[in-house]
Amino acid sequence: MSCSSSSGSEEENEGIESYRKGGYHAVRVGDSFAGGRYIAQRKLGWGEFSTVWLAYDTKSSNYVALKIQKSAPQFAQAALHEIELLSAIADGDPTNSKCVVRLVDQFKHTGPNGQHLCMVLEFLGDSLLRLIKYNRYKGLELNKVREICKCILIGLDYLHRELGIIHTDLKPENILLVSTIDPAKDPIRSGYTPILERPEGNPNSGVTLNVIEKKLKRRARRAVARISERRASMGGVVRNPKPERSLNGINVSCKVVDFGNACWANKQFAKEIQTRQYRAPEVVLRSGYSFSVDMWSFACTAFELATGEMLFTPKGGQGFDEDEDHLALMMERLGKMPRKIAIGGARSKDYFDRHGDLKRIRRLKYLPLDRLLVDKFKFSDTDAREFSEFLIPILDFAPEKRPTAQQCLQHPWLNINLTHNEEKNETSLEKEFDINWNLTEMWDFSLAWGWLG
Ligand code: ATP
Ligand code: MG
Repeated sequence: MSCSSSSGSEEENEGIESYRKGGYHAVRVGDSFAGGRYIAQRKLGWGEFSTVWLAYDTKSSNYVALKIQKSAPQFAQAALHEIELLSAIADGDPTNSKCVVRLVDQFKHTGPNGQHLCMVLEFLGDSLLRLIKYNRYKGLELNKVREICKCILIGLDYLHRELGIIHTDLKPENILLVSTIDPAKDPIRSGYTPILERPEGNPNSGVTLNVIEKKLKRRARRAVARISERRASMGGVVRNPKPERSLNGINVSCKVVDFGNACWANKQFAKEIQTRQYRAPEVVLRSGYSFSVDMWSFACTAFELATGEMLFTPKGGQGFDEDEDHLALMMERLGKMPRKIAIGGARSKDYFDRHGDLKRIRRLKYLPLDRLLVDKFKFSDTDAREFSEFLIPILDFAPEKRPTAQQCLQHPWLNINLTHNEEKNETSLEKEFDINWNLTEMWDFSLAWGWLG
């Protein structure tokens, strides 16, 4: 379908208006699906197309995520497409080790709003967006970023090289941790007893009450926040800033999810793809795209994990639109776009003159990535240099020059933690130095041999 919304499921709820014919199916805790096999336990999330529920699989005695699609024909068609891709993904990965979500089952469910296609997926934890928020937008420790990057790259390498699938909407929200941040939210780790039948009570209360309750709670929270702000501004007690949170003990293994917008590389159907902030320049300029658009989004995601802030947040302004601002921001960070690329897209004439300069945004404030990391995000010079050396080739304006996921997996930056770990004995340090030196050498070698270009 069309390009996705920026971050729908991070809104508080999916809105009661979409529970109508053609829309979402209203689910209550204890509802059963597929002839009684799956029992709804609690809502996990929602998107433009679906609501997703934690369900208990009475056949396998496992917890699963039940994605229930809206029922209108365009949503059903999108679900069929997603199921086709998810089936190929599952078939090609029998050991479930490729860091991509697994489809377990599928069925149709008929309810008052129509017939809904349902996907049964392995149950995963919180999204990376939730992890960034949990960490109070501070930027994760680089060793955690490295671990997460490796998982994403394994997933992308599998999708791209083995299956020929482009995700087209890679972003923190669409990458889920394998386990929940809060162990109490994990039905297995918390020792939760599954609900096997609908609890007693008003049969019509389900969704409506839930949504109304949440709205009221939100209003109450806002009112409390306003009162304390007013008190603070009147010279009252100023609230302490929230204490930092530790991510120690949180497992950061993760998987790529949400194939609602994904496509086969040889059967593309949308020109406008990717969520705005993660969108590659060739998509903005309509120059055609391939697997390397996911690599661009990957680099934007890695930056966000390490800093807590999005790499590009374009906004329209006086006399220029969001696209032109986006191109300007890219050039301020990555240098001038080569003229041939700038003028090569179907939309190029809207933004660039024949010299390859932007038409309306004339003065650019260049600040290279490594400087930004030091000046704004207080990285050490070494961390900034090493991280930029990893990211910059992936953010090449020329899509064909970007390294593939497979090549990125060889990059020495992903293994730096081995050398930087202080509590090492000398022998192991020596060994690791050798490993890293070899990796660095391999990377230079690959550059020299043009694997990247
Ligand atoms: P979008 O509008 O992003 O295209 P969508 O309707 O296709 O949304 P998804 O993004 O697949 O739906 O899922 C919506 C939300 O449900 C996710 O953001 C996540 O919070 C939750 N979710 C999805 N799959 C799982 C899973 N396997 N395990 C746990 N939670 C999940
Ligand atoms: Mg999504």
